[in-house]
Amino acid sequence: MDKVYKEIESALIHGGIYGDKTTGSVNVPIYQTSTYEQLALGKNTGWEYSRTGNPTRAALEALIAELEKGVAGFAFGSGMAAITAVLSLFKSGDKIIISSNVYGGTFRVLDKVFKNFEIKYSIEDTTNLEKLEKSLSPDVKAILIESPANPLLTITDIAKVSELAKKHNILSIVDNTFMTPYLQQPITLGADIVIHSATKYLGGHSDLVAGLVVVNSDKLAEKLAFIQNATGGILGPFDSFLLIRGIKTLGVRMDRHVDNAEKLANYLLNHPLVKNVYYPGLASAQGYEVNKSQAKNGGAMISFELKENCNIKTFFSELKLIALAESLGGVESLVCHPATMTHASIPYEIRQKVGITDGLIRLSVGIENVNDLQNDLEQAISKSEEK
Ligand SMILES: *Cc1c(COP(=O)(O)O)cnc(C)c1O
Repeated sequence: MDKVYKEIESALIHGGIYGDKTTGSVNVPIYQTSTYEQLALGKNTGWEYSRTGNPTRAALEALIAELEKGVAGFAFGSGMAAITAVLSLFKSGDKIIISSNVYGGTFRVLDKVFKNFEIKYSIEDTTNLEKLEKSLSPDVKAILIESPANPLLTITDIAKVSELAKKHNILSIVDNTFMTPYLQQPITLGADIVIHSATKYLGGHSDLVAGLVVVNSDKLAEKLAFIQNATGGILGPFDSFLLIRGIKTLGVRMDRHVDNAEKLANYLLNHPLVKNVYYPGLASAQGYEVNKSQAKNGGAMISFELKENCNIKTFFSELKLIALAESLGGVESLVCHPATMTHASIPYEIRQKVGITDGLIRLSVGIENVNDLQNDLEQAISKSEEK
C-alpha cells in the first residue's frame, strides 16, 4: 500500500495496519480471541491460533517494524521475553558480547539462565572499538549494546559497532529502549536486530509491560517468527491495543520529555551539591558528538551523584512529586537507585568496575511542568545536605 505521509510523527499515528476495514473504526479492534473458526478442513482465514498470530498484535508488529525501518516486528509479554527470544537464536558454545552498562535483567538472563545452556557472554567496553575488535574470538556470534546504556548513559557508536559485526559476520543487536525510534533508528545505522522494553517510552503511561523486536532481514524474520511461536512469550491483544494507543503520542511526549530533561540536566550541572551529571545531551558528556550523529538529541534519562556531604537516603525520602520506583519512560517522573534496584543483580565488584556507585541516582524525567520538577529536586537536595 502506498503511504501518504513521509515523517515519523505521521507514521506513529497512521503506520502499520491502520483502522478496521469492516466497520471504518479508526482504531484496530481488540481481537480478544484464542482461536479462529476454519472455513473448511485445511482452509483457514489466515488466522489459526493466537499464539501464532492475532490481528491486534499483528497491527502493533507492523507498526514497530515500520517505525524502526525493519523487515518485521514481533511483540512479546515483556522486554525480557523479547530479549530471551533474541538470545534463543544462539546455541551452546556461542558467545555474546554485551556492553558494560547493559540493563541488569539482560545480564541476569545470560548469567543465570542461558549459561545453563552453555551460551557464554562477556562484558566489554563497547565505546572502545579497538578493544572490542580484539575481544572478537571465533566463538563470538553477536554484540548486544545499549546506547545510551543503563544507567550511566554511555554512548556507543552504533554504526561502527554494526560495521565491525558485519566484517566478522556476526549479529549486531541494539536495545533501543532509552531512545525509541522517534529519536534513534539503529537499523538505519546498520544494526541487525532492535529490541525494546515497550514498557517504557513506547507504552509511555506506566500501565503495561511489553517487549518488541524488529529485524532487518527475511531470514532473521523467519527465525524470530518460529521462536516466537515455539516458545510462546507473546503479547496479548489488550496490551497490544494499549501499546498502539501509547505509540500514537510518542512524538509529542518525547519532545516534552527531552525539553524537561535538557533543563534539569543544566540545573543539576550547575548545582553546588551535585558532584557528577551523566546526560548525553550535555556538551561535556562522554560520547556527546557520537550521540549527536546517531540520535536526534540526548533523550530524557539523567543520572547524577550528590556530593559526599549529602545523604542520599534523605534525598529519596524527601522527594514529594518525583516517585521512587523501578522503570522509566512514563509520563510521570521517576527516580531510582541503580545499586540496590535496577542493577542489584550485578555483583558489587562489577558494579564498581563499570561505575555504578552506591551514590548514583537515576532520574526518568516525565512531562510534568519542569519548574515543579526542579523545585522538588531543589528541596530534596538541600534537605539531604548534612551540616
Ligand atoms: C526495562 C528494560 C528492559 C526489560 O524490559 P521489561 O519490559 O521490564 O521486561 C530491557 N532493557 C532495558 C534498557 C530496559 O530499560
